[in-house]
Amino acid sequence: MSATIYYSDDVDEKYISDKKIAIIGYGSQGRGQAQNLSDSGYDVVVGLRKDSSSREVAKEDGLEVTEIEEAADKGDIVQILIPDNVQPEVYESKIESHLDPGDGLFFSHGFNIHYNQIVPPDFVDVAMVAPKGPGNLVRRVYKQGEGVPALLAIYQDYSGESKDIGLAYAHGLGATRAGVILTTFKEETETDLFGEQAVLCGGVTELIKAGFETLTEEGYRPEIAYFEVLNELKLIVDLIYEEGLTGMRKSISDTAEYGDLTRGKRVIGKESREAMKELLKEVKSGEFAREWISENKANRPKFTRLQEIDENHKIEQVGRKLREMITR
Ligand code: NAD
Ligand code: MG
Repeated sequence: MSATIYYSDDVDEKYISDKKIAIIGYGSQGRGQAQNLSDSGYDVVVGLRKDSSSREVAKEDGLEVTEIEEAADKGDIVQILIPDNVQPEVYESKIESHLDPGDGLFFSHGFNIHYNQIVPPDFVDVAMVAPKGPGNLVRRVYKQGEGVPALLAIYQDYSGESKDIGLAYAHGLGATRAGVILTTFKEETETDLFGEQAVLCGGVTELIKAGFETLTEEGYRPEIAYFEVLNELKLIVDLIYEEGLTGMRKSISDTAEYGDLTRGKRVIGKESREAMKELLKEVKSGEFAREWISENKANRPKFTRLQEIDENHKIEQVGRKLREMITR
């Protein structure tokens, strides 16, 4: 089953032209999304805490700024762009009671809705418009006249128009210039968590450390090991990003490619693939989410301890020194 993808021609801006959009939070996504929507001619208000240091930034960017409660009250669409772990508390205390029938409650990640940490009333639309890139990229690419692709998902369609409204919102971000992929909260949440655990973050950092330790335990110099297993990763990832696996392989030497094709499967073998399946099972069952939510409630003891251990890893000590001599 391949995905449905929408482009600018599929958009009717009338679905959003009479709506006020409240952006809650002015971090990475909040700033990028609010500025693009505003430049697209949409009516935007930014909701921030009274003592928020982002207040001045948002005002200097030319945007209307109010308290979170007031923004939620004024907004016909309320897009929640504060960190996922604080969303439930802020939603309950400052947003929920300001939602009117027919309002749109928007997210850029599905975690809190999918795992029932936020349970919206049945008289609002609940949608996700999630750019597939950080806020500064969303902003920069928009200014170049292009867009970062986004995901669109509808969880609850009270108005009967939520898909068109969501699409018009994505259009204001510039995302329809690149393509807006239709998904579900479940699919986005589960694949996002799996991707960061198994491949992007967990998989890659362990792969790097394992390679570094294998070399240094055998007596190779840590500086040399650092370049081989960490620094050069960027060159390879850039090639993969631009041209796929096959394109990357066209740029490396035949020796590297033969080693890749014959040896890689031994590193990511049966055991790793089984571990991936287990991670996915824990994501799908909600086991990971429950663990992470209670870790937060306990003030993150495990998280902090594990962070500290890795910050002091030998590869980090070497890396801090070597990066000073590398022009980036
Ligand atoms: P962020 O950490 O950059 O921004 C957080 C903002 O929320 C800041 O303005 C901060 O002051 C404010 N904030 C923090 N704690 C608060 C509290 N207790 N009450 C009120 N405001 C508070 O967040 P982000 O990375 O932009 O993420 C926002 C949402 O976008 C999340 O759902 C995230 O999953 C999603 N998302 C992020 C990215 C990304 O690349 N950063 C990409 C796609 C989706
Ligand atoms: Mg992600």
